[in-house]
Amino acid sequence: MSNAAQSERLHIAFIGKRNAGKSSLVNKFIGQDLVIVSEIPGTTTDPVKKSMELLPFGPVVLIDTAGIDDTGELGEKRIIKTIKIISEADFALVVEPREKLSEQERNLINNLKELGLPCLVIINKSDLGINYELIDELNSAGIKFHPVSCKNDEGIYELKEKVSSLLPSEENPSLIGDLIKQHDIIVLVVPIDLGAPKGRLIMPQVQTIREALDEDAIVVVAKDKELRAVLSKLSQNPKLIVTDSQAIMRVIADVPDEIQLTTFSILMARLKGDLPEYVRGLKRIDELKNGDKVLIAEACSHHAQEDDIGKVKIPRWLRLHTKKNLEIDVVNGHDFPENISEYKLIVHCGGCMLTRKAMQVRIKQAKYMNVPIVNYGVAISYMHGAVPRALLPFSEAFAAWKSIN
Ligand code: SF4
Repeated sequence: MSNAAQSERLHIAFIGKRNAGKSSLVNKFIGQDLVIVSEIPGTTTDPVKKSMELLPFGPVVLIDTAGIDDTGELGEKRIIKTIKIISEADFALVVEPREKLSEQERNLINNLKELGLPCLVIINKSDLGINYELIDELNSAGIKFHPVSCKNDEGIYELKEKVSSLLPSEENPSLIGDLIKQHDIIVLVVPIDLGAPKGRLIMPQVQTIREALDEDAIVVVAKDKELRAVLSKLSQNPKLIVTDSQAIMRVIADVPDEIQLTTFSILMARLKGDLPEYVRGLKRIDELKNGDKVLIAEACSHHAQEDDIGKVKIPRWLRLHTKKNLEIDVVNGHDFPENISEYKLIVHCGGCMLTRKAMQVRIKQAKYMNVPIVNYGVAISYMHGAVPRALLPFSEAFAAWKSIN
């Protein structure tokens, strides 16, 4: 059995109407009676998670969820939890008890498509016969499906094999390795100001140095006020300059146009988050109106400084840039607040303390709720006039910028 931490395993969510047979299917999938099964609709209230080894794929987490048609005030809360689970999932099994698709199910499948979450419709209770109307609808919409019967185990083994072959395999993008090659010179600009931690570099700076060394590149590290001197002493232009976001305007003034330039935050946005999505989110900054709510989200708690980036500087820059009277909330911790749909924009920190998967979950939650999301680095570069220049090294992000302009 693999020792992969639960948060790093691929998550498979079982979603659908009440009494569609989700819990029975989860039990069949893992081969034990983990989840209470009942004919009474709505027996599953809170999501139930179970880790298992899905061969030949490997370790996964199965999540049984409450019905998407749950009713009443409590039902609404459960639906919010189900939406959260959907954003945590890497694959969705939409369990349909061989009836016609309801409007809710069609919306759910469309939302999954928009989120880019692969899904398979499970036609449950196949022992009761074939519903050709349903199969026609799924076929004509290009939706993959698989019939099973939890009553006589029909199709269960094949379902596990199918899910195993359809699960996405993701390679972590590199921080800087794909932008440089052996003997390239890269210059890292690290201001040592009051905001810099005493006696050490921060994690994105250390990671960039390490990855550049792994590529046998030549790394020069300098403070922003030394940058001109560095460039004048080099016998050739560096391949790339990476700067702290807050020094971007001073750095741009010192760097000729022919040298590529970006920020540590943009590198981190690519590594942990979704850089093109953040770039598309920039459009919302200029659409904000008086009274709009903006959420500033930090993924960990830290001791706030006098001119704190999340609590002071970004709110100030947002108000200056938009010239609007914005209502800005700042939260920190491991979860988004439940009311993110109230916000017109989310500005997220670099997420250096989060795993890539955890950061992706937050982005998916924002997308699912239709709230544009940007990260600190991308927003700061934009509000300081450094976009699109700081995006030029990244073709997908640059294309996203062109798509909103
Ligand atoms: S997780 Fe976010 S708030 Fe915490 S140190 Fe990293 S970037 Fe800053």
